[in-house]
Amino acid sequence: MIDTHSHIYSEEFDADRAETVQRAKEVGVCHIILPNCDSSTLAPMLALEDEYPGYCHAAIGLHPTSVKEDYEYELALVKSELERRNWIAVGEIGIDLYWDKTFLGEQIIAFQQQLDWALYYKLPVIIHVRNSFQETMNALAPYNNSGLTGVFHSFTGTIEEAQEIIAFGGFKLGINGIVTFKNSGLAAVVEQIALEHILLETDSPYLTPAPHRGKRNESAYVSLVCKKLAEVYNYSAEQIDSQTTQNALALFGI
Ligand SMILES: [Zn+2]
Repeated sequence: MIDTHSHIYSEEFDADRAETVQRAKEVGVCHIILPNCDSSTLAPMLALEDEYPGYCHAAIGLHPTSVKEDYEYELALVKSELERRNWIAVGEIGIDLYWDKTFLGEQIIAFQQQLDWALYYKLPVIIHVRNSFQETMNALAPYNNSGLTGVFHSFTGTIEEAQEIIAFGGFKLGINGIVTFKNSGLAAVVEQIALEHILLETDSPYLTPAPHRGKRNESAYVSLVCKKLAEVYNYSAEQIDSQTTQNALALFGI
């Protein structure tokens, strides 16, 4: 399994980060992808990647909820990091209108600037969408047939939205613990989506799957998402693991 979205570099794991990685390895997680948020997360993320080279892979990007008055400074940092070294992806980037709509214009500018850089550096993108599906698709529209690839992380939309993403081309859907929440309705949507379009993720430390809901999430729990998808698709957990791992390896070029 590959946890394609994990923030285990965050301070929630300061006391037991090595054990957290160990538990992930023990359940069969072979790679963990670390999306960046902003200038404050860069150093801890890079420190974790340094400790587990070839296992933890850092992405670089400016998260939409970190797009504020100083977004140009934050974007300049992303640009210089892209110039400095190789990255697994550009992310996480996108539009979030759940917490705050004040910076919608700036969020769109930052999103599209980072899409341009992803194309230039031939990197996939990790897209964060919250209460902003239409705004995100509108911002992506000029990039149709551009060769852009990536993942809509933490997908929780309708089947129509899933079909719109798949029809756009080049994009996978990241599924996490939300699929185990009875009231989410996500399992009924996911079962209509071909497994070749699905990636596993946790979004640790958030969105902890059942039966640990409400506690801290961690990469080892990606196995609970895998197990739930086995139920949803009526496949074995090994089949879910094998296909979603293949999907992630191909997208991220690991
Ligand atoms: Zn995230």
